[in-house]
Amino acid sequence: MRVWAVANQKGGVGKTTSAVALAGLLADQGQRVLVVDLDPHGSMTSYFGHDPDQLTSSVFNLFQHNGQVPEGLAAALLLDTSHPNIQLLPSSTSLATLERQSASQGGYGLVLSRALAQLWNDFQFVIIDSPPLLGVSMINALAACEQLVIPVQTEFLALKGLERMVHTLNMVNRSRKQALPYTIVPTLFDRRTQASLSTLRMLRRDYADHLWQAYIPIDTKLRDASLAGVVPSQLDTGARGVLAYRALLRYLLAQSLSRREQVA
Ligand code: ADP
Ligand code: MG
Repeated sequence: MRVWAVANQKGGVGKTTSAVALAGLLADQGQRVLVVDLDPHGSMTSYFGHDPDQLTSSVFNLFQHNGQVPEGLAAALLLDTSHPNIQLLPSSTSLATLERQSASQGGYGLVLSRALAQLWNDFQFVIIDSPPLLGVSMINALAACEQLVIPVQTEFLALKGLERMVHTLNMVNRSRKQALPYTIVPTLFDRRTQASLSTLRMLRRDYADHLWQAYIPIDTKLRDASLAGVVPSQLDTGARGVLAYRALLRYLLAQSLSRREQVA
């Protein structure tokens, strides 16, 4: 099982879209994929047609057992999606209370890792969608994954969010055995705007080592897919946005493979 997380401490940068698009492409290839919604807003949960305000069971249940995860609990929380190879560990709005509830207590950082360990044989890939704030959920996502994808909207304000995210990562890395590898993905790129072009230039200058060299263009098909509740490749396998995510997936898989070879 390979676990990837998508995170950025800024909203509206394409986190959920990236998580769903990558999961969809992996699932199209026949991989069994689990998507985990760790955002209390539950955008990914809504994307797949479930209402985060109504759900009585969600990823939040994992956090109600003093940091341990009872056997079988993770599997019991899974929901089907519009894609036969994708299952969803949904969020619910109650997840918002988590940050308050356990801020004063330690021991909650590995809950998601423990839950995923129970599902190790059921899925080949896990894609985690994280909230845009640093809290228990984000810490769980970073602790559980082996590779991080940071979508960055190609506009000036987005660089600030990226700085914060990299700062968080450096902090988290101090308590990991190995630094968490990450890939910055320029998103919502519009070649006609100066902001897109100069942001891309700055990313290439300041973050060259961790930057995916291409970008995800603005593509309304991605929004249409979310309205239809299907992964983008199910809506239009040749859409520009889908082609870009396919190229990104190839890159991420190659990165992950080369790291494994270094270890072996
Ligand atoms: P986040 O999860 O970071 O808050 P989302 O993935 O929900 O961001 O994206 C925010 C909005 O932008 C959504 O309405 C989504 O459909 C849209 N969107 C994301 N990426 C693109 C893109 N490449 N082209 C057009 N619309 C996009
Ligand atoms: Mg989101």
